[in-house]
Amino acid sequence: MGEDNSRSIELDVDDLERFKLRYSLGQDDGRGSKHFLRIKVTEGAVSSRQLTEIARLSDEYGRGKAWITDRQSIQLHWIEGRHAPEIFSRLEEIGFTTDKCGQAYPAPGYGDVRNICACPVAGYEKGEKIDVRPLVKEMNDFFIGNEDFLDMPKKFKISISACEIDCVRSQMQDLGLFTIERERRPGFGAVIGGSLGVAQPGAVIGKPLNVFIEPDEVFEVAKNMAEIHRDHSSTESVAKARFKQLVREWGVEKIRSKLEEKLGRKLERLKYSGPEVSGREHVGVQEQKDGNFYINIPVLGGGLSSEQLRRAAEIAEEYGSGDLRTTPYQNLILLNVAEESLDGALTELKKTGLSVEGSRLRWESVGCASDFCASSPEYHPKAVAREIIEHLEKNVGKELEDYRMKIGVSGCPRDCGLKGPSDIGLLGASTGNDGVGSEEYRLYIGGRFGADPRFSKALDGERSVDDIKIMIRTLVEKSLEEEHDDFQELWKELSSQELKEIAELEVEGKWEEKKST
Ligand code: SF4
Repeated sequence: MGEDNSRSIELDVDDLERFKLRYSLGQDDGRGSKHFLRIKVTEGAVSSRQLTEIARLSDEYGRGKAWITDRQSIQLHWIEGRHAPEIFSRLEEIGFTTDKCGQAYPAPGYGDVRNICACPVAGYEKGEKIDVRPLVKEMNDFFIGNEDFLDMPKKFKISISACEIDCVRSQMQDLGLFTIERERRPGFGAVIGGSLGVAQPGAVIGKPLNVFIEPDEVFEVAKNMAEIHRDHSSTESVAKARFKQLVREWGVEKIRSKLEEKLGRKLERLKYSGPEVSGREHVGVQEQKDGNFYINIPVLGGGLSSEQLRRAAEIAEEYGSGDLRTTPYQNLILLNVAEESLDGALTELKKTGLSVEGSRLRWESVGCASDFCASSPEYHPKAVAREIIEHLEKNVGKELEDYRMKIGVSGCPRDCGLKGPSDIGLLGASTGNDGVGSEEYRLYIGGRFGADPRFSKALDGERSVDDIKIMIRTLVEKSLEEEHDDFQELWKELSSQELKEIAELEVEGKWEEKKST
């Protein structure tokens, strides 16, 4: 077979039958990649054996690179269509499928249930109220390859979180389930119709369904909500086909009534605005509830080499139980490391370029994959996020280590890089010819999910990355000077105009002068 110069994928009839419901390639448009492969890592759970095979696939077909996505999948690029049957076969052998990735289709349809985001340390996290793993499994067993849910008007995103960290970001999901208590009874609350993208009606924070869902009702609620999307979301145009548009048109009350009509019973009412999110995160080394430890490795932007994947798998095997997890912040976790094995594991990880040192910004910041994407391939958001964090760590120092702030960098308004819900957001504004140094971004401030959710707001016009990192540093220094440990404290105390004036001080060379007055 000759060189693959088109986007078409050749499958024989048997392969087509075997793979059509569970496997597909997505369309790329940057860095010379025509297709990507998004491996659905259910529950974010990947064994050392599976990770080693993914490393091999990456070597053979993906130029030795892999990316963890914000839905805990693992993505390879530079995949050629002619290799699809071999790759799908090998994924099937290790028990993985792929997302359906219907973004290349210009009309509504081909929407599947995307990888269900779940707390990566479910079953291990000390503060969790419910171990959600059986619930996630039940949903995955039902939705994956289920023909009834593969041609919805558009994709449907579900998350379920087990503790007050809500690292799955419930409020940007079509259906975000989060743990909540009613009279000391743990169950779930739900937010619906959240999304950061540009499809109508634009970026929306998920709205509270205001019901209490018993753990044994979760599957039914998820199934019926997906059916409501499938049967009632618009098929008129792609722009109107997301579930958030139906939530906008119908309102929460009508959606809830429809859900209850389908369930054949009323759900218990409970008022909330969203998940109560604490300041705690799954950062670095944390003790599990069984006394072992997990190591959360920050992979800023989610990009790893095949060698790093392979070594992470070996280290997990040697020092832990061989179980790993991918996280919604695109990081990688090694589970079940005994206290006496921690030093050895951390040393080996560091040698592999997987250091667990640095500020918590490294675990909680995101940059989109713009350079592979048709929307804005000229931006380098992952590199920009890294550059800002390194600048802050170098110049602010130790005080930054436990400072609470999230940075999100996106190439375009689809906002895969989470500019909207981040304390500090950057949105691509214009590009130059010399990579990161010549790109310009618009700076946004103040976004946060949780009980008082809001999207960040534009602070300023277009700025170079060099200016922006100085502006962010000045704001952080001001906040630390006020003895804050959370960026939101500064945001709440000052108006946008005041924040802008402070941010510009150092760019104008006046910050030191101002500090000494
Ligand atoms: S935010 Fe835009 S540029 Fe970045 S990955 Fe998403 S669609 Fe592409």
